[in-house]
Amino acid sequence: MSTYTNIKCGACGYSFTDGYTPGGRQSSLGPSKILCKKCLSVNTTSQRPYSQFTSYDRFTFWVGRTLMAIVRGGLWVGAAVFGILLLFDLESEAFIVGSIIIGMIGNVILIYFLIPEEIKETEKAEAEFPTSEIDLKIEKFRHTLEKLNQVGTRDTLTQISLLKTPARAEAPSISTSVNANPVRFNSPIQISVTLDNCTSSSGNISMPKLQGLIFSKGPSQIHNTNWVNGKKTSNHVYTYAYLISSHQDIKIPSIKLSTSAGILYSKPFVIRVLNDETNV
Ligand SMILES: [Zn+2]
Repeated sequence: MSTYTNIKCGACGYSFTDGYTPGGRQSSLGPSKILCKKCLSVNTTSQRPYSQFTSYDRFTFWVGRTLMAIVRGGLWVGAAVFGILLLFDLESEAFIVGSIIIGMIGNVILIYFLIPEEIKETEKAEAEFPTSEIDLKIEKFRHTLEKLNQVGTRDTLTQISLLKTPARAEAPSISTSVNANPVRFNSPIQISVTLDNCTSSSGNISMPKLQGLIFSKGPSQIHNTNWVNGKKTSNHVYTYAYLISSHQDIKIPSIKLSTSAGILYSKPFVIRVLNDETNV
């Protein structure tokens, strides 16, 4: 199912990715610092410009990007040619295989032209980042003045108070929740498993068999990343859809999960099932 990522400013929550964007993987290549456009906090990223890569980083970067280009190129061109053949009611396996290979090779050639450009952009962003405290203070002052002109004093004060918003807890934990409670027999529900500041060791979550629920689909995944003063906080939400197949209350047991922070348990809870005679 779908995976979405949102990278936000640790101080004000402004999204650098413009909300949720498809894709779960994040490139190791990028500026090591991002200045938040909204509150001017410096967010330290887990990325590095190419010049700061170790030889191991360089190796994994090129191998990773090349493999990704091969897979994507093959898929895209293969799917496009397959679609065109379908449109004209033609059938040619050789043609599809040929186009997949051409797509793979073509995309690898393409990224070898595009990546040096991307590296250059990253180096430029890194070099142009306001480095000294004074530069940052001037930038902040200018920003405040601009805001004063734009929206008046009250809104500016709100903006400034946002700067003091405390960072989210960094302790790893897992928790489960349901989108509706109480529920009725036969109604659809969604159960979400949230991993705060840890990831599943296996990369996914195997839900226990739940009495009174029929699994329908999932999981859909949402990944959030926050950078707070160089420390990364994250949360991953896995959502599963079920159908209520019980007339009695449903016990959701504690879920045990092997994570990057060791074995963690969620708190059990009960989904109340209303009988038809009961008034809500
Ligand atoms: Zn911000």
